[in-house]
Amino acid sequence: MTAHPLFDISGRTALVTGSGRGIGLALARGLAEAGCTVVLNGRDTGRLAEAAAELPGDVRTAVFDVTDGPAVAAGIAEAEERVGPLDILVNNAGMQLRAPLLEFTDRDWHRILDTNLTSAFLVGREAAGRMTERGHGKIINICSLQSEVVRPGIAPYAATKGGLKMLTKGMCADWGPYGVQVNGLGPGYIETELTRPLVTDGEFSAWVRRRTPAGRWGLPRDLVGGLLFLASAASDFVNGQMLYVDGGMTSVL
Ligand code: NDP
Repeated sequence: MTAHPLFDISGRTALVTGSGRGIGLALARGLAEAGCTVVLNGRDTGRLAEAAAELPGDVRTAVFDVTDGPAVAAGIAEAEERVGPLDILVNNAGMQLRAPLLEFTDRDWHRILDTNLTSAFLVGREAAGRMTERGHGKIINICSLQSEVVRPGIAPYAATKGGLKMLTKGMCADWGPYGVQVNGLGPGYIETELTRPLVTDGEFSAWVRRRTPAGRWGLPRDLVGGLLFLASAASDFVNGQMLYVDGGMTSVL
């Protein structure tokens, strides 16, 4: 039995930001396994080359900092010239800074806002300029369970992810009429470098398992199914939506 043709994305070209490790790498692998030409992005040339070597198929790299407007413009232009028109953009690059809000510095506030929110605006605007001209494109913004709920010590992160949810809806409003679908994928607690301090904290880790109806931490590959749906023609009439992939956590008290 073969997959339904609506989900066939073979031959498409996809850029995944922050894909040298963690969730971005798993999403890039999923797209490569589905037959896409994948462009990996990050700031570390060596790490990207290693990641590219582990993935199947046609995998390229584009080294640029997603918070740097001119570097983003040059990076997207160069990627399209070298690899071809981008059909799919995954805005995944992000970071976490955990600290009580009263102690949070101006510098860290701007850093997390630039990395998690401004980056999606910069890369999204650059890619969408080209997608809207061509009349089609898929943009998936990696939001978070913290686009909806928060806990002490991560208010700035939650503000960036809540902002990214609304940016997703705004992108849908502006670019939907030109054939571009923009949706958010909201991971729950997923084991990566970003969450290592939480995974290794026995008490916190047990709380995550108790609090999640699925009874476990998520793995980066848990996010691939949702991404493939949002990247394919199966979601052509789905726009400005959030898909939470969190083992049920956001639905249950
Ligand atoms: P990791 O810390 O493992 O990876 C983050 C990635 O982002 C790295 O590849 C890093 O690459 C890249 N990155 C960071 N800053 C920049 C930048 N300025 N320019 C280009 N690339 C950058 O995090 P995760 O894989 O856990 O998270 C990925 C996304 O998923 C983030 O947006 C995160 O907020 C979100 N998320 C994660 C959850 C989790 O539980 N792990 C839950 C909900 C959402 P490099 O440093 O090499 O440049």
